[in-house]
Amino acid sequence: MKKMVDKAGKTLGLDAGTIEVMKSPKRELHVHFPVKMDDGTTKVFNGYRVQHNDARGPFKGGIRYHPQVDIDEVRALSSWMTWKTATVDIPLGGAKGGIICDPKKMSVGEIERMTRRYASEISIIIGPEKDIPAPDVNTGGKEMAWIMDTFSTLKGYNCPGVITGKPRELGGSLGRPEATSRGLVFSVREAAKRTGMNLKGATVAIQGYGNVGAFAHKLIERDFGSKVIAVSDSQGGIVNEKGLKYDDVWAHKVKTGSVKNFPGSKPISNEDILELKVDVLLPCALENVITKDNAGRIKAKISGEGANGPTTFEADAIMWKNGVLVLPDILANAGGVTVSYFEWVQNNYNYYWTEEEVNQRLDHKITVAFKDVWDMHEKYKCNMRDAAYLLAVKRVADAAKLRGL
Ligand code: GLU
Repeated sequence: MKKMVDKAGKTLGLDAGTIEVMKSPKRELHVHFPVKMDDGTTKVFNGYRVQHNDARGPFKGGIRYHPQVDIDEVRALSSWMTWKTATVDIPLGGAKGGIICDPKKMSVGEIERMTRRYASEISIIIGPEKDIPAPDVNTGGKEMAWIMDTFSTLKGYNCPGVITGKPRELGGSLGRPEATSRGLVFSVREAAKRTGMNLKGATVAIQGYGNVGAFAHKLIERDFGSKVIAVSDSQGGIVNEKGLKYDDVWAHKVKTGSVKNFPGSKPISNEDILELKVDVLLPCALENVITKDNAGRIKAKISGEGANGPTTFEADAIMWKNGVLVLPDILANAGGVTVSYFEWVQNNYNYYWTEEEVNQRLDHKITVAFKDVWDMHEKYKCNMRDAAYLLAVKRVADAAKLRGL
């Protein structure tokens, strides 16, 4: 992340001090809090909330639950949120939170107690005008509802605008659950238009089958008639050259807990799925999966980043040289935070939109952002990630400059 900001800052001619400010998080909160486990023991969990930049508006970004969460990861993720909100030009900044835990090995009760205690710890720095969290890896509507309830209980009144990605009954926006995938598919559509790719019948491989990957499968198949030939989740992957139908794979995942052993498919590893000869690759799991070691073997024509940070700095250059069009995370997965922004707006004026309105506005935002990035890519003859950073870093730097130190 820091290398990207340095590179963009230098091309834009920014002074070293401004670049340094934009690389550093503004505020970091480390919390260590006790949770009563089901067996009666008490466990201390470690969590973070990093607020990277609020030059353009309140801090915004998700909360993830994962054993590999660490402070540097949360720092990078918080700054990616700053560049993401700037790329799609919504009036918000960047933040991220995380708890080091393995929710797959915890009961619902343990997760609820952990979530509520974490929410109460970070309540001193979040709020509808300050910092608005949202779902990320291994969190969703359920956790958002608990955080909203804990925060509202502390305040003594209902505060739906403190968090986005809530269930609809509590002020969640229609269209938010699929928003990240919908934005991703819109980005792929725009890229296909410009490169002359016909998405109908185009082959697709998806790494990750959580909220982002699974809905991407559904939407790219249903709306564009593309053929998804391989998908994977944390337990392994499946491939079938004839195509995998979303409804069937999803039903299998719900029934068995994984896409693995789907009838009629062959197994494939999470590494090999990235190297399949497909038209479109969608890395929708975790960061740093495409590195200098495997980047040269990526055969897709377009790689749309549903995950945050799936491609390393070195890998990017290799893919650019090999003619793989990488749609960077800060553009390609910005649909989630864009509809989070819509949710927050609806909460603040207490008036709710139809799903059609949400989806149309999202389409507009992503289409305009894609064009802005594409224009930069043509103007500077650089890859799409460099182009998106040039756009985002300039927007944040301009805001910071106008405000003054
Ligand atoms: N966690 C999502 C992301 O990385 C959504 C963040 C949000 O909605 O604030 O973009």
